[in-house]
Amino acid sequence: SKREGTINLGAGPSSLPTSVLLEAAQGILDFSSTGMGLTELSHRSGTFKKVIESAEEDLRKLLDIPENYAVLFMQGGGTEQFSGTALNLLASHAIAHPDYVQQHNGQGPALDYAVSGSWSAKALKESKRLGGNAKAVFDSRKLEGSDGKFGIIPPTSTWQLSGVDGSGKVASKDELPAMLYYCDNETVDGVEYTPAFPIDQLPKEYAQNVPIVADCSSNILSRKIDIAAHSIVFFGAQKNVGPAGVTIVIVKKDLIARDPDEGVSNGGPRIPTTLAYKHHADANSLYNTPPMFAIYASGLVFADLLKSKGGVVGASQRADMKSRAVYDVISKSQGVFAATVKDPASRSRMNICFRILARDGKTPNNELEERFIKRCREKGIEQVKGHRSVGGIRTSLYNAVSPEQTLVLVDVMKAFAKEVQD
Ligand code: PLP
Repeated sequence: SKREGTINLGAGPSSLPTSVLLEAAQGILDFSSTGMGLTELSHRSGTFKKVIESAEEDLRKLLDIPENYAVLFMQGGGTEQFSGTALNLLASHAIAHPDYVQQHNGQGPALDYAVSGSWSAKALKESKRLGGNAKAVFDSRKLEGSDGKFGIIPPTSTWQLSGVDGSGKVASKDELPAMLYYCDNETVDGVEYTPAFPIDQLPKEYAQNVPIVADCSSNILSRKIDIAAHSIVFFGAQKNVGPAGVTIVIVKKDLIARDPDEGVSNGGPRIPTTLAYKHHADANSLYNTPPMFAIYASGLVFADLLKSKGGVVGASQRADMKSRAVYDVISKSQGVFAATVKDPASRSRMNICFRILARDGKTPNNELEERFIKRCREKGIEQVKGHRSVGGIRTSLYNAVSPEQTLVLVDVMKAFAKEVQD
């Protein structure tokens, strides 16, 4: 089929391993010789229970998820977790600190956001919209030398963390925020914390007492992550995991031990039932009908990564190698390509964003970018147009993109640089 000659570098929904899709296609026609497709079975059947349990088991192995964390298969996408994370943590804060809101003139605790790109900015905006006391600990667009764009992650010593005084000390434990939220890989802007979000550089007392929340929608399973250092790690499926429709939330169980409604009389939020983590955890993600196909296909991706692709370590080595190859061409292109993320240490291994410059080596040139997209297409490379807010080119090298496919891109880029220079 045409699929074999196509290299899909879309930012998401993105490509999935062909072997997984072939198996999934069979499974939705006749699952395990039941004569019925997987999505035609009851979600409460023993057959589907096995599917969701084995997906969870494989994910636990891949990410080394500790026993005291629940794995929830939810809906609503990454976007719904912008409110899900804030509301659930405000509820658990209200339960743990019954007098807080009353003592603070009706105002809830602070919610800290590290704003390194478009998605964390959206999460902060939604949190403010919900009426929370949310604020940015930094906003990359406001830094000196940023030109109002995302691309620099400032040193942690400069972050305006709630409850931390100028000398970096926690003045009062009571004033610490109900969460610190970050987006590990900013899909639109191509900004990633490397080698990892700097939890170890935060004031110890802050890091140990503030629930840390990570949006890993676009880089989960591409490198190891220390789950135990977080309270919540969530990700939509449609990049490294599976088809859109399921959002996975990994949450520390002690945060969701009590019914969120218990916090309401203390000034905590009333959470829609389908957004309350506790209800999903208690029902093993079968509180209501789950996105069965997305869970099934994600489970196949987990099994494939675990059994034939070297797990997260294998994925991580490939991600390093693939992205290095592309950034190398950019840096050696003598001003034809320019990475849009200024700080090399913050450049994403998943979404590589760059502009193609005019002969002056300074001005992005739309005509050349269009020509580049055409050259890509001639070699079967699809979906490389940059996000409209950044412009230029974005090549996404998710787990399903092989090193061999990346080399085809590298060759197209090298030939294009030569074509432009000649
Ligand atoms: N967070 C990140 C990092 C994303 O890349 C996206 C989507 O691309 C989202 C959140 C929003 O996800 P969804 O479209 O599933 O709501």
